[in-house]
Amino acid sequence: MKRSVRDFDSRGKRVLVRVDFNVPVKDGEVTDDTRIRRALPTINYLLSEGARPVLISHLGRPKGEPDPKYVMDPVAARLRELLGQPVVKLDAAVGPEVVEALEDWDGEGVVLLENSRFYPGETKKDPGLADQLASLADLYVDDAFGAAHRAHATTVGVAERLPAAAGRLMEEEIEYLDQVLEHPERPFVAILGGAKVSDKLGVIESLLQTADTLLIGGAMGFTFFEALGYEIGDSLVEDDYLEEAKRLMEEAGDRLVLPVDVVVAGAMEEGAESETVPVDSIPPSKMGLDIGPETVALFEVHIAGASTIFWNGPMGVFEIDDFAKGTEGVTRAVAESGATSVVGGGDSVAAVNKLGLEDRMSHISTGGGASLEYVEGKELPGIAVLPEE
Ligand code: ADP
Ligand code: MG
Repeated sequence: MKRSVRDFDSRGKRVLVRVDFNVPVKDGEVTDDTRIRRALPTINYLLSEGARPVLISHLGRPKGEPDPKYVMDPVAARLRELLGQPVVKLDAAVGPEVVEALEDWDGEGVVLLENSRFYPGETKKDPGLADQLASLADLYVDDAFGAAHRAHATTVGVAERLPAAAGRLMEEEIEYLDQVLEHPERPFVAILGGAKVSDKLGVIESLLQTADTLLIGGAMGFTFFEALGYEIGDSLVEDDYLEEAKRLMEEAGDRLVLPVDVVVAGAMEEGAESETVPVDSIPPSKMGLDIGPETVALFEVHIAGASTIFWNGPMGVFEIDDFAKGTEGVTRAVAESGATSVVGGGDSVAAVNKLGLEDRMSHISTGGGASLEYVEGKELPGIAVLPEE
């Protein structure tokens, strides 16, 4: 068990909290505040303990220098509404003006520092930047699971310099992912979809060690079909991974469940004429864009029987309504399964949110890339650096 923010005696102390406020912003407004909401338990806990939270996050991909497009002001505004407490937004993350502002701070509410990626030292884990950040506080809490796969100044750098602990969200992420990977209640069904097999090969490999059944949907399926020698038309395929796909199918046997029918169309666009065909009869000039109804029914049976579910990656091009039915069907099935369900991946989570079923999942991971690396069994530097209790 990692040391928890709850193990700290933080009363009256300044606590630097690395949060993941990397949210979408449009015209100066936060358009999806999920990640801000998910950080509230840690912030509220610290406030209830009488601590003085100083928050830091990255936002977007500025190029190591200040960029008005990526200032934290819209985040501060939204946080103020959600928290109902003062949020003092500073226009820098380190430097004399920050030191001074923190000295002048009356300790009410929280301080939000400026975007950490305005500093070139952030992504380089620069010791100078980490020293400056560490000097701002007495304690460090990492609640940014979504950034835990990056060894940056605000994740690993500061944790090496201050007494460090995991925040509540970080703890929840680790707890659910560990439950799935280490002691899943069986049957354990994993569902993988999305665009690229190459990104998720390691994940398939790792899930084959623990899962009872692996359901494959999305574009990923076509690499397997090509490996089986089927005509896949213009469907998305990764030819470099055919051998790998064959090997995985041999290793998995009937634990790997591929689609039986697909929705195909001539183009990936709204209103394109589409039809459903068996997977071994895809017309040469068509592309597969969703799993078909028979596949949904087949997957539903597996999902309904599961006690644990891990899901990453949509079953089709769900952004277009005509090709969203497979993903919708799977989402509803997971919601109704009664299983412990963990959903990771930006697009899969967006699909769940679109149907308003987020409350029906046991855990929605805030880290797409981080959750996949965790499932792959990779050590995440931001977690590894946190001390055991
Ligand atoms: P996540 O963000 O959940 O990890 P990915 O980023 O791996 O998921 O994949 C999501 C993308 O995969 C979506 O944009 C979706 O349109 C695309 N996709 C799913 N199925 C297909 C398909 N059959 N053909 C082309 N693209 C697909
Ligand atoms: Mg994605």
